[in-house]
Amino acid sequence: MTALVWFRNDLRSLDHPALSAAAAKGHCRAVYFLCPQQLDEHVIAPIRRHYLRRALNALAGQLADLGIPFDIIDAGHFRALPAALVDYCQQHNISEVFAHEELLVDERRRDRACQQALTVPLTLLDDRLLHPQRVLKDDGGPYKVFTPYARRGRALLQSAPPNCLRRPKAIDSQLPPAECPVFGEEKDSGDWPAEEEAVLNQLRDFCRERAEAYREQRDFPSVPGTSKLSAALALGLLSPRQCLARLHAEAGNDIWDPKSNPGTWLNELLWREFYHQIAFHFPRVVMGRAFQADTEAIAWGNDAKLFAAWQQGRTGYPIVDAGMRQLAETGWMHNRLRMITASFLCKHLHIDWRWGERHFLEQLIDADFASNNGGWQWAASTGTDAAPYFRIFNPTTQSQRFDAQGQFIRHYVPELAQQSDKAIHQPGEVGNYPAPIVDHRASRETTLALFQQIKD
Ligand SMILES: Cc1cc2nc3c(=O)[nH]c(=O)nc-3n(C[C@H](O)[C@H](O)[C@H](O)COP(=O)(O)OP(=O)(O)OC[C@H]3O[C@@H](n4cnc5c(N)ncnc54)[C@H](O)[C@@H]3O)c2cc1C
Repeated sequence: MTALVWFRNDLRSLDHPALSAAAAKGHCRAVYFLCPQQLDEHVIAPIRRHYLRRALNALAGQLADLGIPFDIIDAGHFRALPAALVDYCQQHNISEVFAHEELLVDERRRDRACQQALTVPLTLLDDRLLHPQRVLKDDGGPYKVFTPYARRGRALLQSAPPNCLRRPKAIDSQLPPAECPVFGEEKDSGDWPAEEEAVLNQLRDFCRERAEAYREQRDFPSVPGTSKLSAALALGLLSPRQCLARLHAEAGNDIWDPKSNPGTWLNELLWREFYHQIAFHFPRVVMGRAFQADTEAIAWGNDAKLFAAWQQGRTGYPIVDAGMRQLAETGWMHNRLRMITASFLCKHLHIDWRWGERHFLEQLIDADFASNNGGWQWAASTGTDAAPYFRIFNPTTQSQRFDAQGQFIRHYVPELAQQSDKAIHQPGEVGNYPAPIVDHRASRETTLALFQQIKD
């Protein structure tokens, strides 16, 4: 009899509870079901498809070295998965299936359907978060506010740090690696390491060299001050436990102080946890609904021309345009710019946050439903710890503060390369570069009025 590990968003061989549990049974094999039709429906970015294929091939190499047979199977659509899994288990005489629990509503439904369809047990283990999503307040309810959640989370981690599991020992003789086919339009993701070893080196280098200045540098998009590990975390090439363990190994007990540099990085990992547990406890948020129900009534303007100008990085606000062009060119955007561009879409252009949420999903290599939704609802003031609706980023002062010399703008908006450090934040129409498409003050007033309408 053979145990099966079903890989999903956990494409690594180290610190992998499901792989370890299956390997402990003596004889095991592994499977990944591709769902290209589902990826189309979920508007997965071409760069992310390429990254996923590379990550699967890298995982196939690791499993082949361990002597674990690995199949990559095209299941077509998510809905076909229970039948595909049943077939696979029958074909390979599988006695038990191990996988990691996923937190989003569709994935949970899929897993329930699989459990019902299978005649062998499917065991779901915790993996996605540092602490399981079931960490609750003293009154038994889920946390809805970040700061107390993070305080509790930090205390739990400090008192009982999670362990990282070793890679299982090689079982049989080496096998030829499986190969993942191309499954849709791709864009080169070569700048993003997809090999487990390379990702771990990236983590180590960040924790060793940059975590100690993270708090001071993380807001400046022209400085490589953040880890750029979001894509690896989103596909599970890396576990959050590995991040915590490495950070602790390099920075020691400083990490428990949320105001220290390394502690600020841990806080960001806790934001990821927070948005995942929100998506778990309040599934409506990833089904297109606002966390704050009253904000559903906001009469967004939804002007398609303004939306297109924002997508193309032609709003006439250089910092917004630089961010949107970074996204289009590289498939990633700096966090400060995600906040500025998202706020601008909702509060300057009065476009529904769901349009922006979808556009980010279509472009991002690190697209993550829970974090993306949390970020968008925060920016639109419709979410949990949302920015209060009357606090509206001024894109010009944000630009002066976080890209003072305009280095980042010059890189992504070359039309403005010759502007002075002062003029670059508010150049007006220059050659081919457009004048601002909306007036900051007037837009601000409209936003206040939109929110006032629903508060009255
Ligand atoms: C509108 C908007 C949309 C976003 N969409 C996504 C998304 O689709 N996927 C995604 O991973 N992050 C998203 N974020 C959060 C954040 O912008 C990215 O995680 C971060 O920029 C990734 O860069 P990094 O790996 O260098 O982060 P670092 O600063 O090095 O942070 C370390 C890790 O912590 C997590 N993290 C950091 N900040 C946040 C945050 N605010 N919320 C949740 N997790 C965080 C990420 O996993 C990140 O890799 C979004 C934020 C906003 C405002």
